[in-house]
Amino acid sequence: MNAHVTDLEGAASAPFYLAQGDECTVFAAAATADLPVLLKGPTGVGKTRFVAHMAARLNRPLYTVACHDDLSAADLIGRYLLKGGETVWVDGPLTRAVREGAICYLDEVVEARKDVTVVLHPLTDDRRILPIDRTGEELQAAPGFMLVASYNPGYQNVLKTLKPSTRQRFVALDFDFPAPALETRIVAQESGLPEDRCAGLVRLAGKLRGLKGQDLEEGVSTRLVVYAATLIVQGMGVDRAIEVAMIEPLSDDADVKRGLRDLVAAVF
Ligand code: ADP
Repeated sequence: MNAHVTDLEGAASAPFYLAQGDECTVFAAAATADLPVLLKGPTGVGKTRFVAHMAARLNRPLYTVACHDDLSAADLIGRYLLKGGETVWVDGPLTRAVREGAICYLDEVVEARKDVTVVLHPLTDDRRILPIDRTGEELQAAPGFMLVASYNPGYQNVLKTLKPSTRQRFVALDFDFPAPALETRIVAQESGLPEDRCAGLVRLAGKLRGLKGQDLEEGVSTRLVVYAATLIVQGMGVDRAIEVAMIEPLSDDADVKRGLRDLVAAVF
């Protein structure tokens, strides 16, 4: 399925990523064709790991930026800084990626300030340019430059959604929780807990995800299932590992947590 990307130079040393479908093929094709990619999906389902994996396989450097509500275009592009009495220009991660032909991954891009999207537009069409107002430069993206962004449509925050004029500039891949057999392999690989023991945790995760929307804003992520399994490998009892890794992180509400524990008791 992913035949034409398995032979890439960096494949052997790439961080472990278990594909859910043809996402590796799509990403590799987009990378070759200079198309930007948008990864949609809930938190902790492997989006960041996927980008790290693909960057290694494609042998391109990767700059990852975790976006937050204070992140501005200047944080991405760069700024003048005072160094030893002199003002020097320091490139931000986006500018570095544009100059070096790297992948720039903007994680949770909708969190960033509005001026960030303005910067992305000329980079995501066939001009592939980054105007730097402060220095008067207009950078042409080096071959290999690729813009990747992620966002979580599940938050349902109308103020924090991508405008069609921005999202329609990206090839988009939808990420969701892996099917149980895949998730079991992922959790086993990541934690070192044998697969037969991971299967129960994954089954529980599936049940907990069934509560999403009723009591929970977000279903339990694969990341949390990996945490639970990791704690068990460390010698922690299963009940306690589930409590601290799969119950407490999901809610602060005592009634909701009681409901979650009832579900645990029913599954285990
Ligand atoms: P996201 O970026 O979607 O929030 P991450 O990429 O950080 O999520 O994934 C969280 C963790 O879950 C990873 O560190 C890894 O342990 C595990 N994981 C999730 N999906 C996969 C997958 N398909 N292959 C390998 N590991 C995965």
